[in-house]
Amino acid sequence: MLVIETVAELQAQSRDWRRDGDGIGFVPTMGALHEGHLSLVEAARRDNTRVIVSVFVNPTQFNDKSDLAAYPRDFNRDAAMLDEAGVDAVFHPGVDEMYPSGLLATRLAAPPLAEVLEGEHRPGHFDGVLTVVARLFNTAIPDRAYFGEKDAQQLAMVRAMVADLAFPLEVVGCPTLRETDGLAMSSRNTRLGPADREHALALVRALGETQRRFAAGERDATALASAVLRVLEDEPGVAVDYAVIVNADSFAPPVDADARSLALIAARVGDVRLIDNSRVGGADLIHFAAERSTPAADPQGVFA
Ligand code: AMP
Repeated sequence: MLVIETVAELQAQSRDWRRDGDGIGFVPTMGALHEGHLSLVEAARRDNTRVIVSVFVNPTQFNDKSDLAAYPRDFNRDAAMLDEAGVDAVFHPGVDEMYPSGLLATRLAAPPLAEVLEGEHRPGHFDGVLTVVARLFNTAIPDRAYFGEKDAQQLAMVRAMVADLAFPLEVVGCPTLRETDGLAMSSRNTRLGPADREHALALVRALGETQRRFAAGERDATALASAVLRVLEDEPGVAVDYAVIVNADSFAPPVDADARSLALIAARVGDVRLIDNSRVGGADLIHFAAERSTPAADPQGVFA
C-alpha cells in the first residue's frame, strides 16, 4: 500500500491509474478507524479496481477546539488496517498540505440545509466539511466516493455539493455498522468510559422505539419525536442536542412520517458527543426498542 502525503503525488498517482483504465474508489476518513470505515472500503473495493482512503483530522470542521484536541489519532494502526483491507493508497496529508494558504483561505459555503441540526449545533461545521471534501476530490480524482449514512446530513450535503458543482463522480451512501448491542460504531466511542458506554445505548433504544411505533401504525411525527426524547431524557448521563423526525430529502420535520423519514439524534454522553439515525420505516433496531409504553400513555393498547 502506498502512503502518500502530498496533493501533487496523489494527483499524479490517480492520473496514472486512470490512464491504465482503472476505476478509482475513494473513502475520506478522519482516522481512528473501525469496522464501519472498513465497510466503506469493502464497498469501494467491490465497485473499483483501485481504492484510495484519506486519513485527515480536518481542523476546519471542528467548532470546538477541545473536541479537535481530544479526537483520537493513531496513524500506524490505521495504516496497518487499511493495508490488511487491500487499500491501494492511503493519503495522509499534514494541515499545511491541505490548507497551503492557511485555515482562512478560500472556502465553500454550504447551502441552507447546513444551518439546521448539526449545523445549528456546530456553526461552520459543514463549510469546513465541504471545503475539505472538495479539495480531497480534486486530489484523489475518484470515480466514486463512499460516505456513511451514519452522518446522514453530511451525506446529503456532499450529494448536494457534487450536484451543484458538477464534480464528475458518483457519491455512494453506505449503511451504518453497529456493535452487537446496537451502538453505532464511531471513532468517538473509544472515549466513552464503561458507565457512559452503557448510557449511550439509550440512543439505540430511542431509535428502536420509533421503528416499533411506526410499525404499529403511528405516523404523527411529533408523537414519534416525543417518544425518542422520552427515552433519552429517562437515561442519566445523556444530554440531548436534538432528537427529531425529518424528511429524508429536505431534513425538515414532516407532519406525518413516512417509511423513508429519518429519526436523527445528537446527544452528549459524558463529554463525548454522539450522533445516530435510522429510518422510522426500518426494522433493524426494533428489537432494541425501549420498555413498552404504560397503559396510560397508550389508551388504545396499540403498543401493549
Ligand atoms: P469519520 O472518520 O468519522 O469522519 O468517518 C468517515 C466516514 O465513515 C464517513 O463517511 C462516516 O459516515 C463513515 N462512518 C462512520 N461511522 C460509521 C459506521 N458506524 N458505519 C458506516 N460508516 C461509518
